[in-house]
Amino acid sequence: MFDAILIEKTDETQSVKLTQVGEDMLPEGDVRIDVAWSTLNYKDALAITGTAPVVRKFPMVPGIDFAGVVTQSAHPDYAVGDHVVLNGWGVGEVHWGGLAKTARVKGDWLVPLPEGISMRQAMEIGTAGYTAMLCVMALEAHGVVPASGEVAVTGAAGGVGSVATLLLAGRGFDVAAVTGRASEADYLTGLGATSIVDRAELSGKVRPLNKERWAGAVDVAGSTVLANLLSMMRYGGTVAACGLAAGMDLPTSVVPFILRGVTLAGVDSVMCPSEKRREAWRLLAAELDLEKLGGASVEVPMDKVIETAPKFLDGQVRGRIVVPVA
Ligand code: NDP
Repeated sequence: MFDAILIEKTDETQSVKLTQVGEDMLPEGDVRIDVAWSTLNYKDALAITGTAPVVRKFPMVPGIDFAGVVTQSAHPDYAVGDHVVLNGWGVGEVHWGGLAKTARVKGDWLVPLPEGISMRQAMEIGTAGYTAMLCVMALEAHGVVPASGEVAVTGAAGGVGSVATLLLAGRGFDVAAVTGRASEADYLTGLGATSIVDRAELSGKVRPLNKERWAGAVDVAGSTVLANLLSMMRYGGTVAACGLAAGMDLPTSVVPFILRGVTLAGVDSVMCPSEKRREAWRLLAAELDLEKLGGASVEVPMDKVIETAPKFLDGQVRGRIVVPVA
């Protein structure tokens, strides 16, 4: 038996509790892991509170991220004692996730924990940080370099945006941090942002083109914010789009693409192929200033996760939430 947060559904009612479950209930998989650390992501908070239909199979253990130690393996890449990290692949949605002391998953979904990153730090980075690195890689793949000019990061004070700001500044970019929270200006400057842009500047009426401003951008917002960003890109610029914090729509035109050669590069972390994930984690270990990042994490024990989920959705929790599971 092991401790797990379990979401159950009977008829139309969803319930969630911290309970003990038997190993015989574990889902199929060729690697068993003792989970050491997990996180509470926005998606997990939605799953736990039942606010959105994130969970598509019941009963479900939430937790889209975890780091732990292999205790059993039939996969050629992993042996007992290996430290591993997992993000996405539908874990916590259709396959039991990280908010339990034991997990069993497909070895193909795992990434070996890179040298120099502890399991706790891997969860401070979490899906948000790993997605930020995928966005930085997308800009690089499209030729955006520090000499190209200033780059913008929207939702800069959020999970993805703060790591993207830190990573891009670390690579020598001038970073314009776009935020709706002026109170976070010092925090963003501390991460390396060279200018702070009020989100309102990107929230107004969208024109097909605006003055050329940025060589690249990481966008977590979508909707009007992304449409305005596209209209403000310099000739040949690239926007790496990964989120929908402002909405799912995109009220733009083809003009930025056909007159300025702008590229809109989509970024997905959930089904991202294994090789790219490993590269993202390798780069995170090499480039991310973990001390600067660590200051922004909050530790929530397993027995407080369920009560923390609604507070998280209400925006009452600042920074990344890491959960000591072991
Ligand atoms: P957070 O909630 O930590 O941050 C989102 C940030 O977006 C907020 O902090 C805020 O930043 C900004 N924001 C909020 N509302 C609006 C708005 N109406 N208009 C513009 N900006 C807004 O979330 P994450 O950083 O973890 O995730 C960001 C987005 O990326 C989400 O939509 C998430 O679903 C998506 N995502 C996608 C992934 C993928 O694989 N594609 C993986 C991970 C996340 P500020 O206060 O600075 O303005």
